[in-house]
Amino acid sequence: HADSAMYQAKEAGRNNVQFYTPEVNAQHIRRLFIADGLRRALEQNELQLHYQPKIRAGCGRIIGVEALLRWTLPDGVHIAPDEFIPVAEDTGLILPIGQWVLKQACTNIVKWRAHANPNMRVSVNLSARQFKNQDIVSQIKKTLEDAQCPADALELEITESVLMERPDQVTSTLRTLHDMGIRLSIDDFGTGYSSLSYLRNFPIHELKIDRSFIEDITQDESHAAIVKAIITLAHSMKLTVLAEGVETEAQLHYLRNERCDHLQGYFFSRPLPGQALEELLLAGAEIT
Ligand code: C2E
Ligand code: MG
Ligand code: MG
Ligand code: MG
Repeated sequence: HADSAMYQAKEAGRNNVQFYTPEVNAQHIRRLFIADGLRRALEQNELQLHYQPKIRAGCGRIIGVEALLRWTLPDGVHIAPDEFIPVAEDTGLILPIGQWVLKQACTNIVKWRAHANPNMRVSVNLSARQFKNQDIVSQIKKTLEDAQCPADALELEITESVLMERPDQVTSTLRTLHDMGIRLSIDDFGTGYSSLSYLRNFPIHELKIDRSFIEDITQDESHAAIVKAIITLAHSMKLTVLAEGVETEAQLHYLRNERCDHLQGYFFSRPLPGQALEELLLAGAEIT
């Protein structure tokens, strides 16, 4: 936004009095502040991974966790991923940060598999910039080896828009990752524009229905219809399907009834620090 506004201002030429609006300026300064802070965040241990359980809808068992980045400034202020991930992407800092996330996630899942649940997986979000990076496959391979992490303990979440931008190119990367034994899921499904013919060709395992459709599933008939259609679509393509952002018992009942395979959301658990997640796993929780 800030960039396009500035571009328009520049285009308008030097006689334009609206060269910098106060809002554009404030946004720009905020981005500089984030970019600057992020450069130090990794070295100064300001980044942390939290883990949110994924549940099997039928039995309520934890089948895996999604790793989610958290950033706390030295003064205790939290910055949300939705704000800093885009800046990390633009600056390229997502590459070292993403590598750190992958390493943490793989190291922890090996520990939790040994101590708590031998079949569990960890899901890691991959951004567009990481996915397009030439070395992504060899980096992942090396990280798995270093952590002695079996490939089937790792799942990668990639958004629809990343996949559809250059579908032919991404298919070969996906194929390689798939053949290594890594699970692949499409995140925020329903918010982008998926071509169904490509979807059929991608070697993926799961569709994650975006939280915005789950939110009002019990009130909004059109969203309920979309959710039903995605579940049917996934199953007809032999994929599993997960609903994000399950917050209420009514949503749980609805999704169970519609045969949604996996669920994730505050109703079961918020994302937890590693230690708290481990305690939950050791308690052998079935969170229904
Ligand atoms: P996402 O991958 O779609 O993750 C789901 C988001 O929904 C998370 O927000 C999670 O905390 C939140 N959430 C889960 N259950 C509920 C619920 O019941 N209600 C509500 N209201 N929210 C729920 P979070 O952690 O703020 O992350 C936002 C986004 O930032 C993620 O969306 C993902 O796109 C990105 N992100 C987070 N960590 C990473 C990372 O390590 N790497 C990359 N590339 N992106 C990340
Ligand atoms: Mg995700
Ligand atoms: Mg999502
Ligand atoms: Mg999201």
